Amino acid sequence: MNKGGGVKKMKYVLVTGGVVSGLGKGVTASSIGVLLKACGFRVTSIKIDPYLNTDAGTMSPFEHGEVFVLDDGGEVDLDLGNYERFLDIKLTRDNNITTGKIYQDVLDKERRGDYLGKTVQVVPHITDAIQEWIERVAMIPVDGQPGPADVCVIELGGTIGDIESMPFTEALGQFSYRVGAGNFCLIHVSLVPVLSVVGEQKTKPTQHSVRGLRSLGLTPNILACRSTLALEENVKKKLSQFCHVPAENIITLYDVSNIWHLPLLLRDQKAHEAILGALNLHGIAREPNLKEWTSRAELCDMLLEPVRIAIVGKYTGLSDSYLSLLKALLHASVSLRKKLVVDWIPASDLEDETAKENPDVYKAAWKLLKGSDGVLVPGGFGDRGVEGKILAAKYARENRIPFLGICLGMQIAVIEFARSILGLQDANSTEFDPDTKNPCVIFMPEGSKTHLGGTMRLGSRRTYFQVMDCKSAKLYGNRGFIDERHRHRYEVNPDMVSRLEDAGISFTGKDETGQRMEIVELPNHPYYIGAQFHPEFKSRPGKPSALFLGLVAAACGQLDSLLHAHKIPNGMAKKVSLYQNGNATKFAKIPADGIYSNCNGVHA
Ligand code: GLN
Repeated sequence: MNKGGGVKKMKYVLVTGGVVSGLGKGVTASSIGVLLKACGFRVTSIKIDPYLNTDAGTMSPFEHGEVFVLDDGGEVDLDLGNYERFLDIKLTRDNNITTGKIYQDVLDKERRGDYLGKTVQVVPHITDAIQEWIERVAMIPVDGQPGPADVCVIELGGTIGDIESMPFTEALGQFSYRVGAGNFCLIHVSLVPVLSVVGEQKTKPTQHSVRGLRSLGLTPNILACRSTLALEENVKKKLSQFCHVPAENIITLYDVSNIWHLPLLLRDQKAHEAILGALNLHGIAREPNLKEWTSRAELCDMLLEPVRIAIVGKYTGLSDSYLSLLKALLHASVSLRKKLVVDWIPASDLEDETAKENPDVYKAAWKLLKGSDGVLVPGGFGDRGVEGKILAAKYARENRIPFLGICLGMQIAVIEFARSILGLQDANSTEFDPDTKNPCVIFMPEGSKTHLGGTMRLGSRRTYFQVMDCKSAKLYGNRGFIDERHRHRYEVNPDMVSRLEDAGISFTGKDETGQRMEIVELPNHPYYIGAQFHPEFKSRPGKPSALFLGLVAAACGQLDSLLHAHKIPNGMAKKVSLYQNGNATKFAKIPADGIYSNCNGVHA
């Protein structure tokens, strides 16, 4: 291990997928990382996405799930969120490789004349660029300790055989040869379907996909087979025979009650033995210590008392669109020993238009909202559903229902306040009404209106608390400032701030200039908070994000005791972060994390 242990050379674990997409490869790869970490190794990760987009920033959450934002402002695939949460690390934008980034890199070199008159080709120039990128990025420390990690887990997106991934499979085949046996372990995640007619576990799809893998120069060390139940011995034997993988290296990823069981399931089937064997690490690994994971996974299964949170959003048809949000809510509710129930409400269903066109849908949406213990309005772009979100914010404010607005959700809260309390009927964001007479949310001066990719205010920025006697400062452990991740183009209009504050809303957090509003609160409401940043991206199992913890605590009547438990002796106020200690409060004592009940084994 790099802290003075025995790993001298970087070790690589490659995770590929076969047969179909959506097998939970990302969570499997993250769980493998957890298992290796539990054996005492430092782990980093790289996700390869073989699409042409430079990054995930311009991709629709409807199609691809959420865009995850990193500290450095990288807009990346949601699997990087799984890695950050599972391994408690902080990745960089370069940890997400896309075809677009690689081609851009090679084409830039070509324009500079770096190839000295050579014909620039996919092999060797693109494939070399991929290998160089992997080796370079694997060395970046991601766990806060100096020096590179011991093991780098690489996940190749897509399914083996996809045309898009060909340059990557070729590069990885060359790479495995270059780093040599003992430094490279290939885990192929596949599917063993059970045909309902005969009830038999079918191996043929896996056989074919392993054949495809071999034809591309990649040899699997381990097969991880998704199936509803554990694989039968004769099925394993057959797979072993046809795929040339020892039976003890064939793992079943059967369905589990929550995804925190996955590292345990891998350990129980001795996946670590197989990986350590392939990486020549047997001598220096310790027995995996998964105590925290075990108690979290078990705790999550035991939770009965529900807390209902309504998410009033735009992309409610695909839960992956709000993955980090769900995880943050889950981390908070498990810490508070509550079973999270999420009520998805498409914002436009709450609007008057729907009442006319589809009264049943309208009624059902309002019934859900009224039945919830807390309301969350997440971030978003575009004007669809904005009026519905404003109605939800108004409902929560007037009925004293705990409310958290994130990014667009915060802007919504300000618009609603300006309309209802200041009486400015047409108050709006210029994103939705460029001609409004009362623009309480405006385009940020430094933004670009012509280029959408990577032009927002992105990544980690500092927020300074303006008053200490407010819920958000207390929830963040009375620190003077916090660093959270951003992704926005619009902001609260600084010219309207004093009018808004005079009417009773309080901007409790601002940026270093004091001009940009970061946190807004209604002091006289049980819990009504908006944040311009996205706290969900830094929530971790066992270390729930402050504002989510506040929302869930308020929703189940525990906010006062939570805030009380968070009181810190004066002298410590600026230095201590309860959430960074993770176990400093009576609620977070068992580093706990639960599982979102609809996510069976898919995401972390
Ligand atoms: N559309 C809003 C903006 O650009 C909010 C963005 C978000 O919610 N991420 O400021």
